[in-house]
Amino acid sequence: MPVEVVTVPCRSDNYAYLVRDIGSGKVALVDAPEVAPIRAALDARGWKLDQIWITHHHDDHTSGVEALRDGAEVIGHGKDAGRLPPLDRAVAEGDRFQLGETDVKVFDVSGHTVGHIAFYLPTERDVFTADSLMALGCGRVFEGTHAMMWDSLTKLMALPPDTKIWSGHNYGQANGRFAMSIEPKNQALKDRISRIEAADAAGEPIVPVTLAEELETNPFLRATETPVKQAVGLPDGDDAAVFAEVRRRKDVF
Ligand code: FE
Ligand code: ZN
Repeated sequence: MPVEVVTVPCRSDNYAYLVRDIGSGKVALVDAPEVAPIRAALDARGWKLDQIWITHHHDDHTSGVEALRDGAEVIGHGKDAGRLPPLDRAVAEGDRFQLGETDVKVFDVSGHTVGHIAFYLPTERDVFTADSLMALGCGRVFEGTHAMMWDSLTKLMALPPDTKIWSGHNYGQANGRFAMSIEPKNQALKDRISRIEAADAAGEPIVPVTLAEELETNPFLRATETPVKQAVGLPDGDDAAVFAEVRRRKDVF
């Protein structure tokens, strides 16, 4: 049986997620940016947390963990345990665990931080990517290298095209302006920006988006494509070098 995903907007632009395995009724929280909206989303449905999945150590993803824990199993990257709230289960690249009847696979997608996780549900084709691959963008490379971040993104790019990407933030409009500076003629990008603007105006989440759509519109993933290579002045550059240049340009955009 599938899962149900509830998007919980937190702070100014964070997204937390409730994932409920329908077969068992077990519920996981992906990141804890803020307590009140998450508690309200749980209470409105009569749900209780069985697991908390932490993507990375930044405060806007972890500050609510202790207040929300209440017996839930807290799961995060063993490599970064020293900077995370106390873990009940430490995981690493390639590990699998269960939420009720649903399989969860762990990807190490370091770059934004070293010890950043994406949680992938292979049977559902949902992936919770936080500040690695983001909606129409990618996280700033704070701790890792550009090569590390590109390696992380290529893992996600290899997932099935209909995989749904659940991002850690809504930076959609700002990301759209940057993407247009790289590929002003990309019609799929223009269409996507219109959808983001409409969702924002309606107060609706801009997630999820399929991997296929990210591959058509996201300038960081499109480091593989000739128009993007040309736009950043590296027509013969390899994908990792082009990605690094796109990321550098975004840092100063
Ligand atoms: Fe972050
Ligand atoms: Zn963040």
